[in-house]
Amino acid sequence: MSNERIYLSSPHMSEEGYEMQYVQQAFESNWIAPLGENVDGFERELALIVGAKSAAALNSGTAAIHMALKAAGVGAGDIVFCQSLTFSATANPIIYQGAIPVFIDSDEATWNMCPEALEEAFHKYPSVKAVIAVHLYGLSADMDRIAELCQHYKVVLIEDAAESLGTYYKGKHTGSIGDYGIFSFNGNKIITTSGGGMLVSGDEEKIKKVRFWATQSRDAARHYEHSELGFNYRMSNVVAGIGRGQLKVLDQRVEKKRAIYNFYKQELSGLEGIGFMPDNAWNEPNYWLSVITTAGKVQPIDIIEALEQHNIESRPVWKPMHLQPFFQQYESVSQGVSERLFAQGVCLPSDTKINDDQLAKVVDIIKRLW
Ligand SMILES: *Cc1c(COP(=O)(O)O)cnc(C)c1O
Repeated sequence: MSNERIYLSSPHMSEEGYEMQYVQQAFESNWIAPLGENVDGFERELALIVGAKSAAALNSGTAAIHMALKAAGVGAGDIVFCQSLTFSATANPIIYQGAIPVFIDSDEATWNMCPEALEEAFHKYPSVKAVIAVHLYGLSADMDRIAELCQHYKVVLIEDAAESLGTYYKGKHTGSIGDYGIFSFNGNKIITTSGGGMLVSGDEEKIKKVRFWATQSRDAARHYEHSELGFNYRMSNVVAGIGRGQLKVLDQRVEKKRAIYNFYKQELSGLEGIGFMPDNAWNEPNYWLSVITTAGKVQPIDIIEALEQHNIESRPVWKPMHLQPFFQQYESVSQGVSERLFAQGVCLPSDTKINDDQLAKVVDIIKRLW
């Protein structure tokens, strides 16, 4: 068997070449920039898939979170509740806006924002401006309970769905449930544009405003007139072409990711001390990454190192934000669930180009540790 590197999750263009067809169109019409038909098409097509009224294509998921916070009216000194167990890109834009994060723990049932911890935070900080919940690894958060609390306290709800394109909660696409949803098309996400993001919302006026801010806030005038602070956050027409092509294979990618996860679960379930991602009847995950936990004699680092010796990529679960040197000065509401997941979790290779022999090899290396 070849020793070709097995990746956690790497770009996977369609066999049919859909992406190149859209990129080709951009070249032929010379709509390399600015904006153009692919950007409009990508916004329309993604909004349709996720069931959102409107969408703004941006140059990263991080930019989309930044614009969501700005659209929500979050400014200097405002408090934002943010899921602690996540990638730092969820939290960084809170700081860009001069706002103050309060980190919220996860719960065992979803691995995402714990509604009880969120409620406790609302009691402590009733003046909070916005909440950012995350759908980690393609698992959905408990949106009904989180949305109910946000409605009760009249606080804007932002869903970081960067990892959950293709994930449904009670039949609704993640990212379309709160006031704003964001997606990422960074290189290791379920689909990629090489880099990019999308902000979706039911509030069309806000999305129009975000497009304005993201193109340097240029007022309607012949000369360059600016009455607001601007950003250079728009997606290019070439990049959007890749995205349109990738959307055509999203369902296939979800199917393969699910098969990868089911294989791991079937093969590794018997090992002592091993755990899997939570199953909830109301959740249809995209299984972006297959994650296991190990609480026995075998530690995550043992698995990661054993796989690395065979040129196979894996990694620990996200380190919670309230434990990060940069963020630990901020408050958190935690009962230690996110800490446990960080201590025990391993993200296994979930690349959609992985074949059956490679999957068997991964499982074999892991089993030998027990
Ligand atoms: C990837 C990711 C982001 C950031 O997206 P970029 O497009 O890389 O800026 C935000 N949040 C989460 C949870 C992510 O995994």
